[in-house]
Order: sequence, then structure tokens, then C-alpha cells
Amino acid sequence: MSENSQRVALITGGSRGIGRATALRLARDGYDIAFCYASDGSAAELLEKELTALGRRALGVRADVADGAAVRELVARTERELGPVDLAVASAGITRDNPLLLMTDEQWHSVLDVNLDGVYHLSRSVVYEMMKRKSGTIVNLSSVAGVHGHAAQSNYAASKAGIIAFSKSLAQEVGRYGIRVNVVAPGFIETDMTAAVDEKFLKDARKQIALRRLGTADEVADLVSFLASDRAAYVTGSVFHVDGGIRL
Ligand code: NAP
Repeated sequence: MSENSQRVALITGGSRGIGRATALRLARDGYDIAFCYASDGSAAELLEKELTALGRRALGVRADVADGAAVRELVARTERELGPVDLAVASAGITRDNPLLLMTDEQWHSVLDVNLDGVYHLSRSVVYEMMKRKSGTIVNLSSVAGVHGHAAQSNYAASKAGIIAFSKSLAQEVGRYGIRVNVVAPGFIETDMTAAVDEKFLKDARKQIALRRLGTADEVADLVSFLASDRAAYVTGSVFHVDGGIRL
């Protein structure tokens, strides 16, 4: 029996990409899995089936992380149907790239609303029950852009830098309750998000990566799995890079 048997993980943006790989990895670690997604119901249904085939309980819910009430209901439903949330992973994220001079208010606000407010809504909704139980783990997905910045991504980079400061602050608030909060900052990872990026840009980007390749969602999920586990029992308030040694 795995060390995490019977535990419940809630993953935002779980239906595709890094969130999906994390859901499958955590299911193999022994977690029952709740996850949310924005619109792609067929990807969510497929994941539910795969999680169930692994012998885990699975709950996929359409919920916009930018909507605080929707996230509160997601957490309440998870607790009702699966049990208390032991691990919360905030993976839902979007890009709306544009140089600042061309950026629209909609592009700015939608990225901040989903990426940064989404992280706030998830932590805000799970942390009180974790404090009462004096245990819990939160892992938030930032990005290399949130550490180094990235041209045409001032909205995205600001949201991802905000996640780092948010997580370090929360770690200091809740450490005394046995709750750990950490950040994973991926570089270029092969998902639908990077599939939308121009191939010439990715070719140039590979030259900036020490390992000379993009990462996989499974490689990010492995790090989340480690941070969630008791092997990381003394790790909190930290940012972990999984970027192949990128130097932007
Ligand atoms: P992805 O493949 O585009 O998947 C995004 C997931 O988030 C999907 O499940 C999507 O659901 C969900 N989602 C989007 N907006 C949402 C919303 N408002 N409410 C709820 N769910 C929402 O993305 P990814 O590449 O796995 O990225 C995951 C995280 O890692 C993001 O936070 C991203 O910023 C970060 N990251 C990724 C990379 C990379 O290279 N891929 C690098 C650094 C950081 P639907 O399918 O229903 O739309």
C-alpha cells in the first residue's frame, strides 16, 4: 500500500497537460482525485475513466477558477463526495501573449483572473479545513516567466511572479498548522500550451535550454508528486525549477 493511500488530491486544470499528468501520477501514488477544467468535457471524461481504471475514485467538475464561488463549490463537492482535501494543486493557467503596447485590458485581466486569482481562490477555499486538521499540502504552478520575465508575456509573467510571492507568504502563515506550500516553475513543457507556440521560436528556445529539449508533463508531475509526499516533509515556501536548465 502506498504512503498516500486514502488521501484526496484536488487539481485545478486537471483535464489536460501538466494537470492531467499530475492527476495520473498522484492516482498511482494512491490519491483519489478531484479535478476541474474550463470547457473540454471530453478530455475530462477520458481522464475520469483512466483514473477509475487505476482503482481510484475520480471526480471531474467544470469550474472556472477565476470564479471564487465556483471554486468554493468545487471544494465543497470534493469534500462531500471524496473526503477532506489533503493536497491542492493549482495547475489551471492560460496565456494571452502580446507586447505591452498592443495588450488589451481583456488580455491583461483574463490572465490575472485565471492564473493569479485562481490560485488565491483554491488556497482560500481549502486552507481553513487543512488548518483544522493540522495537515495539508499546496503546490502551485508558476513558470520560468514568473522568475525571469518574458517578452510579450507581461500579463502572464506578472501572474506567475504573483503566485511565487503569494505562496511564500501563505507558507509563512500556515506552517505552524503543519501545512506546506510550494511552487513548481516549469520551463518549456510539451503540452497544448506550447503546441500553440511558433516552431521557429521553440527551435531558438531549445538552444537556451541546457538539456536541449522541451520537458514532458510527466517530468513536472514527478516533482509535484515528490513535493506532495512525506519525503518533502521539511520543504515549504520554496520554488522548484523544472526547466532543463533554461537561461532566458
Ligand atoms: P494546458 O495544456 O493548456 O491545460 C490547461 C488546463 O487548465 C486545461 O485542463 C484547461 O481546461 C484548464 N483551464 C484553463 N483555464 C481554466 C479556468 N479558467 N478554470 C479552470 N480550468 C482552466 O496547460 P499546461 O501547459 O498543462 O499548463 C499547466 C500550468 O503550468 C499552467 O498554470 C501554466 O501556466 C504552467 N506552465 C506551463 C508551461 C508549459 O510549457 N506548458 C510552462 C510553464 C508553466 P480546458 O481543457 O477545459 O480548457
